[in-house]
Amino acid sequence: MPSRSRSASRPKTPPALTEQVPPPAWFPEYLRRLRETYAPDLPAPRRFPEPLGGVIRTILAQQNTRRVAQRQWEVLTTVYPHWEAALMDGPDGIATTLKSAGGGLSRMKADYIYGVLAHLEEARGELSLRFLRDFPQTPEGHEQARAALAALPGVGHKTVALVLLFDLIRPAMPVDGNMERVAKRLELVPVNWNSHKVERWYGEAVPPDWETRYALHISGVRHGRDTCRSQRPLCGECVLREFCPSAALFELGEAQP
Ligand code: SF4
Repeated sequence: MPSRSRSASRPKTPPALTEQVPPPAWFPEYLRRLRETYAPDLPAPRRFPEPLGGVIRTILAQQNTRRVAQRQWEVLTTVYPHWEAALMDGPDGIATTLKSAGGGLSRMKADYIYGVLAHLEEARGELSLRFLRDFPQTPEGHEQARAALAALPGVGHKTVALVLLFDLIRPAMPVDGNMERVAKRLELVPVNWNSHKVERWYGEAVPPDWETRYALHISGVRHGRDTCRSQRPLCGECVLREFCPSAALFELGEAQP
């Protein structure tokens, strides 16, 4: 009897992550409590007139405090009133400018910023991402915008999701380290999943409208920063305590951060 080839026996598409790990019945309540507690009045999303500013601001924010990222942004936009000037100055000049504002990783961030500018100049002949706003507000349009951002050198999936959500008002689901930690402590996802997989899970589990996703990102980050902290989480004050299998362990001092 002829043996079946391996590829013939494989499913065509892998199962959705939420089929492997379905969201619990209390998931809508989790969304509601986080929003009510941390973001009852949603802050207006930042909207740079030019989405390229959003990309560069997000690059500066990576592994930086908000204060340092803001200072670097102010110095950068003062020294380079137009991005063409930064492109002309080159990666060494951009690195020197960033260094003058303090904060780490100036060299790496300068290389990323220069890479994005040089790519746009070569690929489109202009230093602008305004064309991303022309894609329709449909799943296909969102995907086109996502693919165009992901094509920028050095721009990873987190930066893409943040720019889509904050600057382009599209229903992406960025997940930072705070949200990932909380998801694992609540056992929404397995502890051994990487950040990419956790982000995909949230992307499937959370309703695909912009406001719900924006509210979850804002409130989820604040919850992780203020209550479900990396060290010594404040379980006694947590609005999610009744859902959380880790709370008792933290209170007994047995859980690993
Ligand atoms: S109960 Fe504790 S561990 Fe669980 S989500 Fe709240 S703060 Fe985090």
